[in-house]
Amino acid sequence: ATPTSIMVGTGRAAELGVLFRKSEALQRLREADVVAFDKTGTLTEGKPVLTDLILDDDFEHDDVLSLVAAAESRSEHPIALAIVAAAQEAGLSLPQVEHFDSDPGHGVIATIGGRKVRVGSARMMEGLDLSDFEHTLQRFADEGKTPVFAAIGDKIAAAIVVADVVKPTSTAVIARLHALGLQTAMISGDNKRTAAAIAAQVGIDEVRAEVLPADKVAAIKALRQGGRVVAYVGDGINDAPALAEADIGIAVGTGTDAAIESADVVLLGGNLQGVLNALTVSRATMKNIW
Ligand code: ADP
Ligand code: MG
Repeated sequence: ATPTSIMVGTGRAAELGVLFRKSEALQRLREADVVAFDKTGTLTEGKPVLTDLILDDDFEHDDVLSLVAAAESRSEHPIALAIVAAAQEAGLSLPQVEHFDSDPGHGVIATIGGRKVRVGSARMMEGLDLSDFEHTLQRFADEGKTPVFAAIGDKIAAAIVVADVVKPTSTAVIARLHALGLQTAMISGDNKRTAAAIAAQVGIDEVRAEVLPADKVAAIKALRQGGRVVAYVGDGINDAPALAEADIGIAVGTGTDAAIESADVVLLGGNLQGVLNALTVSRATMKNIW
């Protein structure tokens, strides 16, 4: 492309709500073979709500919800926000937290009233018996909802289910990418069943789930195998290293500063239609269409 067409292309993209922060990205995007997406906050709205709390018989609902919400009140994770909001809606007051620790990609651990409270994925509940919940939770996960566990002391007190809706544009954008000859993938920290259900809902065929924040870069490298050019679309702090690693990093404008700063391309707002606009402008620019 000529310098003039790159300049025009960058301007045209800006009119469409796509900010190319590097001119190389404008040239490279049209070569993408696969577009990989983060799940939460990228393909989905990223504002989950608590839909179900499945209580163990030995525990009391409000007691569990207030302890769990207190533990989550120090976390910024969307799941934490959903749990705290549910406790507020129920009019519960939250007990004092004596100690707090977060385990990124797994959950949180707190000490409250001398009791150890853990909230997070199955992997965080090592050594505890989850078998009573397994069947029910698989059903929720197959609907694309995310189950987490709450342990109080050394007993599972409840399973908590949160649901996040797919953005209205996600399915159409994925279909259009396929029609343009690209492959699509999803990288998520969420459990395999939930991730697979959301991927099926939007039509993505390649899924990497239960990916720890530190392993998102390795997931991008794996997608790149065989010489594939990989674009990655993400919004979270967790996504920043993967956005930098991808051949073209695309940040969702509603995302975190860390993601935006690590990206080559920034979409205005949360609409994934911007991915298609970016691709269209890149293709037109490289043909010197302007
Ligand atoms: P993602 O953004 O794709 O959900 P994360 O790495 O942030 O990925 O989280 C992965 C999983 O870890 C979540 O699906 C959940 O099971 C668990 N988890 C992480 N943080 C929390 C938290 N604050 N409360 C409960 N569970 C959490
Ligand atoms: Mg996200």
